[in-house]
Amino acid sequence: MIGREAGELLSTAQQFADGVLFERALDVDASGEVPARNLDLFRDAGLYGLWTPQEVGGCGFDELERLPILEALAGGCLTTAFVWAQHGGGSANAARMPSGSPLYERWARALATGQARSGVAFAHILRPEPCLFAQRSGNGWVLRGVAPFVTGWGHIDAVLVAAHEADRLIWMLVPAAEAPTLHSRRLRLAAVDSSVTVELHFDGHVVSDDDVVEVIDYEDWLSFYRTGLRTNGALMLGVAGRALKLLGASPLDAELDAARSALHAAEVDEMPDRRAQVGYVGIRATSALVSSVGGRAITLAHQAQRLAREALFLLVQGQTADIRSGHLRRLGAADGQP
Ligand SMILES: Cc1cc2nc3c(=O)[nH]c(=O)nc-3n(C[C@H](O)[C@H](O)[C@H](O)COP(=O)(O)OP(=O)(O)OC[C@H]3O[C@@H](n4cnc5c(N)ncnc54)[C@H](O)[C@@H]3O)c2cc1C
Repeated sequence: MIGREAGELLSTAQQFADGVLFERALDVDASGEVPARNLDLFRDAGLYGLWTPQEVGGCGFDELERLPILEALAGGCLTTAFVWAQHGGGSANAARMPSGSPLYERWARALATGQARSGVAFAHILRPEPCLFAQRSGNGWVLRGVAPFVTGWGHIDAVLVAAHEADRLIWMLVPAAEAPTLHSRRLRLAAVDSSVTVELHFDGHVVSDDDVVEVIDYEDWLSFYRTGLRTNGALMLGVAGRALKLLGASPLDAELDAARSALHAAEVDEMPDRRAQVGYVGIRATSALVSSVGGRAITLAHQAQRLAREALFLLVQGQTADIRSGHLRRLGAADGQP
């Protein structure tokens, strides 16, 4: 059930997506950076508050109210929407800190209103080999290692970082500023290159206890993470929906609707497979558009090649081992029924 305020913001998001975002999307894709005016548009509409409660200046929406907004914006310009969507983790975590704590006072309202912007550096903790470590030192932690993908560098003021300490994870909201102990290396990407995604190197970077959001056992975090796998599916739904709109009526319309409904209704255990189905429809929808357009689709001036590259990216974004298996089965690269 979508409330009135969520419905109004969805309508704004759809207008942005079909108007300015889509019109600018090819330029954004090619330019190497998301223009500040796109992100300012999101801030002025209140979209940076999507993940936070009203007490701190956010929207106070639930997950099912957020999903169509994410989908709409991803269907306008995925790169802009992707940079913005990284804000969710940092803003939500700052807002749930105790009122009066340094972290809450510094970040909660600023992030909820978009006066400050955040990114995340945590997907690496799903890897079998840890690559970023925290060691206790004085009244804080010292970080060593690499976060392999951090999006929005240069646009963000803070980054929500997760690092391993034995069988625990230390979660911190760290200022996103280069320092002698923190430096970035930009990645060149085949899709969403303008997201300015970097590898972030920590070389004895000191983080005070004031910046710590949570210390949690790895297994407890993993159980929690499994409950949140639905969200990233909205990005592929947006890209696929845009491709199908450009394609014109086809049997894929009904497939996409079914994949969306199934994802929205999924229980936790069903989410990886429902995400894989969304990915599978997205890859075919964007490929169908390329095929229908013909050779022009491959010119950089055509939306079809942009959407097809974005769908490839979304196959791996927010991926887990179960989602990967679901993709590989559907793509005919692994045994077993979907
Ligand atoms: C453009 C881009 C931007 C991104 N931005 C961000 C961001 O801002 N913040 C963020 O946190 N993340 C970000 N990501 C990470 C993204 O969500 C992950 O890529 C995705 O979750 C897939 O993980 P992975 O590629 O790092 O590693 P994995 O898919 O986990 O794989 C890494 C390696 O480990 C191997 N492996 C994985 N699991 C196992 C296993 N169980 N046993 C043995 N080997 C295994 C894989 O085969 C692979 O070689 C970004 C990624 C991209 C491509």
